[in-house]
Amino acid sequence: MGDILYGLNSAQRTAVSSEAEVLQVLAPPGSGKTKTLTSRVAHLIRERSFKPWNIIVCTFTVKAAREMQERIRAFVGEELEKKLRIGTFHKIALIYLRRYGKLIGIPDNFGVADTNDSMRIITRMVKEHKFSLEPKVARDRISRSKAQGIDCEQFLATLQQKKSSVGQNAIAEKQEFAEIFSMYQTQLDRCNLLDFDDILLRCVDLLRRNPECVSNIEAVLVDEFQDTNGVQYELMSLFAQQRSFITIVGDPDQSIYGWRSADVKNLGRMKIQWRDTLTVNLEENYRSSGAILRAAQKVIEQDETRPPKQLQATHSIGQRPVLRKLPTAKAEADWIIAEIKRLMALSGGLLKLTDFAILLRTASLSRNIEAAFGKAGMAYRMIGGKKFYDRVEIKLLIDYLRVIDQPAHSEAVERIINEPSRKIGDKTTESLLKEAQGTGQTLWDLVRRIAQGHQKSSTKLTTPAMKGIEQFHDVIASGRKRIEKEPTGLADLINLILNKLSFQSYLKQKYPEDHESRWANVEELIAQATDASNQPPEQLSLDDEGLPSVDGTEVIEQSPLTSFLANVALSAATDQKQGEGGDEVAQATVSTLHAAKGLEWPVVFIPACYKGSIPHSRADDNDEERRLLYVGMTRAQVILNMTFPLKGSSQNEGAELSPFLSEHGMNNFFEEHGPSISERDVHALANTLGRDQPTMEAIAESKKSLERDEDNYWPVNGEWPLEELAKFNNGQADDSGPVYGNTRAASWV
Ligand code: ATP
Ligand code: MG
Repeated sequence: MGDILYGLNSAQRTAVSSEAEVLQVLAPPGSGKTKTLTSRVAHLIRERSFKPWNIIVCTFTVKAAREMQERIRAFVGEELEKKLRIGTFHKIALIYLRRYGKLIGIPDNFGVADTNDSMRIITRMVKEHKFSLEPKVARDRISRSKAQGIDCEQFLATLQQKKSSVGQNAIAEKQEFAEIFSMYQTQLDRCNLLDFDDILLRCVDLLRRNPECVSNIEAVLVDEFQDTNGVQYELMSLFAQQRSFITIVGDPDQSIYGWRSADVKNLGRMKIQWRDTLTVNLEENYRSSGAILRAAQKVIEQDETRPPKQLQATHSIGQRPVLRKLPTAKAEADWIIAEIKRLMALSGGLLKLTDFAILLRTASLSRNIEAAFGKAGMAYRMIGGKKFYDRVEIKLLIDYLRVIDQPAHSEAVERIINEPSRKIGDKTTESLLKEAQGTGQTLWDLVRRIAQGHQKSSTKLTTPAMKGIEQFHDVIASGRKRIEKEPTGLADLINLILNKLSFQSYLKQKYPEDHESRWANVEELIAQATDASNQPPEQLSLDDEGLPSVDGTEVIEQSPLTSFLANVALSAATDQKQGEGGDEVAQATVSTLHAAKGLEWPVVFIPACYKGSIPHSRADDNDEERRLLYVGMTRAQVILNMTFPLKGSSQNEGAELSPFLSEHGMNNFFEEHGPSISERDVHALANTLGRDQPTMEAIAESKKSLERDEDNYWPVNGEWPLEELAKFNNGQADDSGPVYGNTRAASWV
């Protein structure tokens, strides 16, 4: 196993081996913060005898956690690395709640309500009670309140106080929100659900009241600290309540989650809470070429409120980033794919598909890009968008699994009771729901009693509807029986559901055009379920320290199904990948800018750089939007391509270049064309990436193959053919000129 300090610069070494109990590493992108954090974890374990199961490491996304685990494993070996408590705040909180939740009255086997669940519950309430607040606004406010540590009870209590001090009228508008908040919370409780914010909030509650749950924790480390919100900060402090040994790394210039109540002031708060906090700054960038770094810095420097900072590139200057104007969003997507092919070929195979990332301001921009990948037959995966689990057929099956796991989840029961159709109309369902609520049962209880003939329903049921209820009952009841008998048989359970629902014919009938690809998704779900069943139970990571459970009772093992569903909900919320053929196939990455945080790729594309997209028309903090673009640009190692379409979807009709990129003097930092890449450049590229040099023959051969590829209308010399241009512009060539420089349309489009 390698020397932990080897290859680190002196500031990094100081941070890694610092004796300080509370340490902040503040530094710009690519300066090795994450590397420093992982090295410090390894150092604590190897040199200072910290036990891995007494160390908590919080990351922002599941993917980041995985990458960190790999880096740590290289130093301490797999056995020790596996025992670390590493993951997103949500994941770690979830594990504590599963293990100790009953100490604060959280029932075993609670479910996780994902964002869709929350939205649905609130929408229904708003409709039913004719509230005037928009459901989404209400949901966001609830989430913001919880993220600041204010739960429903506290909110109501504060409101009550205000009522008596400032009078009824002044808080009238808050009253409606309070009602929604309270109804929403009641509904979650009734369904035995925690939403994402609750997971953190309840864990805070747990650890505050039962410090013994974390009495073993010796060290807490947090990556991307600038994006923690109030509750996460609280959670971090509570993890460290036994011993204040805390290391955080972060960069205020990369705070991009203000819209989710992240608060960069937590950095200062920490210094007040722990007065002898040591701060270490890192000033060398090891990720990007000098030209990319300069352009990114030019963008962030427009924020005049920001203190100036030192950042040196360690790599050579390299190619200037490209800022390119294209006629339409479709042309933009096609250009990106053609450019990927071109760069792969010109680099003589040095650049692989996995080296490319396309980073989008919103997930909805992915449509053209996905289509272009599909057309070219190239594999890609999505991070950030809720792609896979958001597909209708997958959502439906997950709902079946949820109800089987937890029949009290009336929201899900309601969604699937008549899907596929069982002749149970919306009115009947609504009436059943009311009947259940009126008699103090869950919807499932009522359905079960009706189907088994124990209860005569006050809801009028037609014969087909009655039959439908029996069928529905049969699916759920058989599913429950199956999983009880064989808790790890997740794939079998899904197959049982598929059979009972005749799912394949249902898909054929409902989606005649694309039932095959939908079925492929179902198969992917089965594969994921099989994988999940083969994982050791989640509890293991907590039981490894050999402590008895706090209340002395047997630890309840979380069922594989419950754990699978909780992970589905969490990964849909943070990052999600969807590949065409699994991890072993080389895939390009398509991600939102947000989800790309902390990651890096040799080649990065940022499309849709127009005003309204970045800054986004609905965003209310322009500085945060600028930081987001900065985060995106600093993901690139050697080639950065930024594009914007002159017109595309109706919303960007007559698009204007992003003001972040049109500042005076900015053109000195960008090119109009992609790099031509000579053999010499390929060698420089290999050096920068630390890879083997491709041979001259390999380069020549792959260049030839590019020329042979007939589908590739993008010629090697980088000119867009006029006929293509004419097609894109409905027969009219655009002559509004290039973004920069003075070449005419024909040569730049
Ligand atoms: P971000 O702010 O984007 O999260 P970061 O500060 O966490 O960036 P890292 O991801 O840790 O940066 O490091 C960026 C890249 O630089 C990685 O590929 C890492 O391996 C490399 N790197 C970091 N420090 C060194 C070093 N001392 N020598 C060589 N390479 C380094
Ligand atoms: Mg990092």
